Amino acid sequence: TSKPSEGSFKHPKGLYVLFTAEMWERFSYYGMRAILILFMTTDVAFEGLGLTTETAGAVYGLYTASVYLMTLPGGWLADNIFGQKKAVFYGGVLIMIGHLVLAIPGSPIIFFTGLAFVALGTGLLKGNISTLVGELYSKDSGAKRDAGFSIFYMGINLGSFLGQIFVPLLAEYNWHLGFGLAAVGMLFGLIAFKVYSPKYLAEIGVEPKVKSAGEEKTSSNSSITIFIIAIVLISLFLLQFLGYIDVTTATGIAQALGLIIVLITMGYFINILFNGGLNIIEKKQVGVIFILFVGIAIFWSGFEQAASSLNLFARDFTDRFIGGWEMPAGMLQSVNSAFIIIFAPIIGALWVKLAARNINIRTPLKFALGLILLGAGFWVMVGAANVAASGTKAGMFALILTYFLHSIGELTISPVGLSATSKLSPAKYLGQMMGIWFVGAALGNLIAGLIGGNFDPENVLEMPNIFLNVVWVSVGAGIIFLVAGPFIKKWMGDVN
Ligand code: GLN
Repeated sequence: TSKPSEGSFKHPKGLYVLFTAEMWERFSYYGMRAILILFMTTDVAFEGLGLTTETAGAVYGLYTASVYLMTLPGGWLADNIFGQKKAVFYGGVLIMIGHLVLAIPGSPIIFFTGLAFVALGTGLLKGNISTLVGELYSKDSGAKRDAGFSIFYMGINLGSFLGQIFVPLLAEYNWHLGFGLAAVGMLFGLIAFKVYSPKYLAEIGVEPKVKSAGEEKTSSNSSITIFIIAIVLISLFLLQFLGYIDVTTATGIAQALGLIIVLITMGYFINILFNGGLNIIEKKQVGVIFILFVGIAIFWSGFEQAASSLNLFARDFTDRFIGGWEMPAGMLQSVNSAFIIIFAPIIGALWVKLAARNINIRTPLKFALGLILLGAGFWVMVGAANVAASGTKAGMFALILTYFLHSIGELTISPVGLSATSKLSPAKYLGQMMGIWFVGAALGNLIAGLIGGNFDPENVLEMPNIFLNVVWVSVGAGIIFLVAGPFIKKWMGDVN
């Protein structure tokens, strides 16, 4: 395929088409996410769904996890049937329909149908639009390609920022106006994509890859697959039978999905290590990908509580008055995107500056830093929760400081982990390993929902403890990365 208009300084125009489409998609996704748990836990008398916090947390986890899990079949469909371009467009249509359904006031059934549409559509859109960004550049345009992705990440966060401001504002008047605005956002994205992609994306992402590339097939061993499925089913049956989970409740389904993700991912890695036809160096590198997967899942399980437990904390225990105006709780979600927009270039420049002085902070240390920053953010929340437990509302400053620490953590861990995963992966498993990256996000989101479900506004005294546990887990994981760093580095070989 030809790479349109790749001048020496200018980015291909297609980048701005993808930027705009993704900006509006994220406007709808994060805008809606900012009001999701608030809507679900609001009393029916105030036009909410009236779910318990526990159920709402589980639904939040199941929904956000599905969004990321669906990128696996979404990528497969694009590679094998639609091509990326059509997949992105159809995905956008499904997302818009989903938000329109959410805009219909009505029963939980209508609501869950809307969520399912958004999850399916995002599965088709999110991964494939990033693949298209990569395809705009030739393989050897390393630094420029990275710069392209940084610009794209700005689009993501600009959309998130605006969505998290305007959707919660409208939702103050009426929930369904908020959901409707998310649909309008996606409509803008679709229009931009439809109008400009024929010209500026040209042939990129039109043909499904499998037809054009004739890539080496990866084998999967059917007896191992059956074995893994059997283990999953037996474990679920035992847990249900012994009463540890109850799959007739949303929480039980979320716990079961968490277990399924963990077991299947472990089985997948074991299979690749023993039957993947890899040499010893590649095996070590795949081992590192697994370690990074665990790290990123732990990171998101804290970070993604932004729209579960931290959102509830903003609503119930935070003084949100600015002068005489009370800021809607969901609007505080926009703080993360604002910090990302401000600090992404600064952190990027920092790594470059340090490298120029021969200080190379390698991946394991960045993971350690990210996890410790996550823990530090929750440490602030322990303090805020103690204030709330004593009967006064916490200041907005606490959440803003927490989001600041989390945003710097995100910048330290997320882009680095993604790029390390792609470099560590044996070529023939690249697609699957990128999929594993999204599975890490799915698992993290799921756990974030389940933890958020424990956040009982009636039982304020428990709150500091919930946050404290997150501190221990994330700081503990950070320390493990710190200590294991030298070994991980050896296994990474020539990948930095
Ligand atoms: N905020 C980023 C995005 O929406 C990353 C989210 C994630 O990977 N969990 O693309």
